[in-house]
Amino acid sequence: MTGGQTISANEITMQGIGVTTGVAIGPVFVLLAEDERPAERDISEPEVYREIARFEEALIATRKQLHEIQRQVSQKIGEESASIFDAHLLVVDDRALVEEVIRGLGSQRKNAETVLRVVADRYAQALASVEDDYLRERAADVRDVTRRILRNLSGHKTGETISTLSQPSILIARDLAPSDTAMLSREKIVGFATDLGSPTSHTAIMARALGIPAVVGLHDVSARVRKGDTVMLDGSRGTLLINPTKEHCEQFGRAEATRATIRTELTSLRNAPAETRDGYNVILSANIESSGDIPHVLEHGANGVGLFRTEYLYLSRNLLPTENDQAEIYAEVAAKLSPAQVIIRTLDLGGDKFVSQIKTPAELNPFMGWRAIRFCLAQPDIFKAQLRAILRASVNLNIKIMYPMISNLDEVLRANAMLDECKMELRGSGIPFNDGIEVGVMIEVPSAALTANLIAPHVSFFSIGTNDLVQYTLAVDRVNERIAYLYEPTHPAILKLIKNTIDIGHEHGIWTGICGEMAANPIMAPLLIGLGVDELSVSPPAVPAVKDVIRKVTFARAERLAAIAIASENGATVMELCRETVREIAPEVLELVG
Ligand code: PEP
Ligand code: MG
Repeated sequence: MTGGQTISANEITMQGIGVTTGVAIGPVFVLLAEDERPAERDISEPEVYREIARFEEALIATRKQLHEIQRQVSQKIGEESASIFDAHLLVVDDRALVEEVIRGLGSQRKNAETVLRVVADRYAQALASVEDDYLRERAADVRDVTRRILRNLSGHKTGETISTLSQPSILIARDLAPSDTAMLSREKIVGFATDLGSPTSHTAIMARALGIPAVVGLHDVSARVRKGDTVMLDGSRGTLLINPTKEHCEQFGRAEATRATIRTELTSLRNAPAETRDGYNVILSANIESSGDIPHVLEHGANGVGLFRTEYLYLSRNLLPTENDQAEIYAEVAAKLSPAQVIIRTLDLGGDKFVSQIKTPAELNPFMGWRAIRFCLAQPDIFKAQLRAILRASVNLNIKIMYPMISNLDEVLRANAMLDECKMELRGSGIPFNDGIEVGVMIEVPSAALTANLIAPHVSFFSIGTNDLVQYTLAVDRVNERIAYLYEPTHPAILKLIKNTIDIGHEHGIWTGICGEMAANPIMAPLLIGLGVDELSVSPPAVPAVKDVIRKVTFARAERLAAIAIASENGATVMELCRETVREIAPEVLELVG
């Protein structure tokens, strides 16, 4: 169950969705975006007094901060400027507003954040609509002060940012954008938990790559934690404990110690091939977001890179990376992993990944909108700069190109035509490149999986993006935690699309990989091998467990499992069959992933 909670004494247990392995413990640091609405939470009758006390404490803290700011402004700029804060202090001391919130807590039985927000919004709107200029300006004061009180309620100290944190903490947020996650410092943030999110959101994928224990889909954790709370989370099982008891800390610690021992044992597989007991070889490669991931690729024993998500080069800087910047990075990555292959996926912006440097219109349905190859084909300057950069980096290195979100043959042909133009331009300028560079496509839209026979003659490989394939086939938004229970990679429809893609690929003499999160779940490895997959590409920390399972299964058994799975009526049965297989052949892996 997700979003459940149990309370004992001071400890609160919440169940969300675990997205990484590992346990983390630490003080909370709540990140509340400026314009963010804190989660709404119902409170019980006995909690009303606690909420009133919390609200009063936040008012006291706000008043203190405002006096301090006023003092500093007065010293630095002058008394006149400091008097602006008199108006702010008037809002904090406005008993009519304060009492309305207190009454609301009793009558509406909602958390202080929700009641304050509603009351303050009404005040601000009323002030904003009056004729008098002075009163109209007070609307902004009400909004400003409300934001400050909300921050104090959440425990987010004003002025405190991740970079100024004094001790390693657990980040709690309503949601995190992939770009926020990409910037998280491992020294300051030892784990994170969010109200929203799902296992295949790009934030979860980033957390896995960074190896930060994380739990998402907790519904209202950002409204439950308080200033001074300690949180312990288990990223494998999706459990989060607020103010855990000593006994639970020890229990978690013991479970984590067992997993750490298993992880250490699996490091012995670093140089072993990903080969089944009866000799079926799989290329087990890594998904990366930047050149900084290379040490993890090597450390975990992956064979090259099956998916380089290049959009993170755009997400993590202020200016767009130039063609030169990109060429350097691609060559650096491929040189460090040579002779293994590095598959560079062209820009997959849109969906849940946006960059401030490129303004795109807001869309109602961004995952089905102007995303990935659709965006690139409409922005030839950006697309061709990337293609030229990849070509330039490809000299004497094992680099391949992959287009994301292909939904029809025409897109492949148009992208290939642009690639040919780039080759001509480089040739014209006498710049060397690998003319025979291989090009593949991601199969992540059902129409592409169903027409793989049309696409195959124009490409050298397929890589199945199950994260998107599942969301588009089952009509389940991959980042919506409310419908996460419908997000089933083992659904018979998905297995049929995977099988069709692999079989068509083989008929045309091309290989098929899987680079979605389904490939990173070691429990699925026998099934995917049985379906005939040639390559699996996973986040570096997932490599050892997947390799362990591959090495303990036989292809014959995997084929039997796949045949039964594909004829099954539902995804839950398939999942259970997969678990049973792994329980038998590699029980230590179940211990690891839960
Ligand atoms: C996928 O969709 O499975 C995939 C690997 O791409 P992304 O997660 O970046 O959309
Ligand atoms: Mg995708």
